[in-house]
Amino acid sequence: MRIPYTGPLPSPRVIPRNTDNLAGAIAALSNFLTAPPSPALQHPTGDPASTVILSGAGISVASGLADYRGANGTYRLNKKYRPIYYHEFLANHEARKRYWARSFLGWMNLHKARPNTTHFAVKDLGDMGLVRSVITQNVDSFHSAAHPDIPTLELHGYLRAVRCVTCHNEQPRDGFQEALSKLNPAWAAFLAEAVASGALDTENPDERRAKGMRVNPDGDVDLPGAPYTTFRYPACPHCLANPPLAVDGTQTRVEVDEEGAWQPISTAGILKPSVVMFGESIDGRVKEASEHAIDGSGKLLVLGTSLATYSAWRLARRALERGMPIAILNLGGVRGEEEFFQNLPIGQDGEAGVRIDMGTDKVLPGLVNRLKESGYAHFHKSDATTAADAQQKNSRMFKDMLS
Ligand SMILES: [Zn+2]
Repeated sequence: MRIPYTGPLPSPRVIPRNTDNLAGAIAALSNFLTAPPSPALQHPTGDPASTVILSGAGISVASGLADYRGANGTYRLNKKYRPIYYHEFLANHEARKRYWARSFLGWMNLHKARPNTTHFAVKDLGDMGLVRSVITQNVDSFHSAAHPDIPTLELHGYLRAVRCVTCHNEQPRDGFQEALSKLNPAWAAFLAEAVASGALDTENPDERRAKGMRVNPDGDVDLPGAPYTTFRYPACPHCLANPPLAVDGTQTRVEVDEEGAWQPISTAGILKPSVVMFGESIDGRVKEASEHAIDGSGKLLVLGTSLATYSAWRLARRALERGMPIAILNLGGVRGEEEFFQNLPIGQDGEAGVRIDMGTDKVLPGLVNRLKESGYAHFHKSDATTAADAQQKNSRMFKDMLS
């Protein structure tokens, strides 16, 4: 189950010692990614030389999205912030009005945001054959936008769609936004004003707060004092057209007003974002697939997350128990990080473990450049590569592995 973690985090460690500067950080990560499979790896399956990435909100900060615990994170800027829980959303029409009103405003921000250098660096690492899969806690779909060829598991779902809690049919969030606009013309006008004034453009949280706006990673905006009570949201079109039978076999009811807004007399057809809300369980298939992604790789690279969410921390623990070398690139402390780096060989240069206290967008582009210079450029994907080139790249690759 997804629950917010607000406990204290340890001070970030620096491993190996020279990773407190950019050149050292890049060198250590390069060693980590290109090292042969660790001799400590238990029951190697899949591709033990490859790396699986586990990412979090920290990597989307450069796209203008807030994270939870970074310097400008939601929990630091807004001490009163409390996310809505799934059971509240399900049970309470008023809570849903509030959620959708905030989401209506927040969507613009997410909608115009784009993947950043971190996501494209991951694409490059995939093209080089170093990264074979990605597990993300992010709901912004930037990974699949930047690198559609690398399988990506969205542990906490995605905001690009909404889903009916009764029939589970999905529809795109874009179309849902239009429906919200039509049902709430006053809010649509407010949104247009906010867009025109640039209140939604600024990435400076102080400016946003001065305009009464607070944004969190789920694409949600806080608007103190705004009346949510008048907000309307549509019913699931499938359940509206054909009200399904309930689990107990009784006929459900889906009632809408003359413009299509869901009415509280209804017993079905509630739409929710296709994210795993707090208090909601992660889809069993996604959970299992993410465990397979860990088991099918030989190394774990953690990007932009404090592993505060249990589901993510548990995957890192699984990697540790398998004997996988772990690299963590995150600005700020990581939950239980000391245990991920116990008993590292003395003098190891990154191949057995890396901990860097920097933003991913600061380090990954330089890492990609370094790997390209050492002969990794699109090694596995380039169909223009001649046999001689391949051989040359191969020898460079082995030199790197042995050095
Ligand atoms: Zn439905």
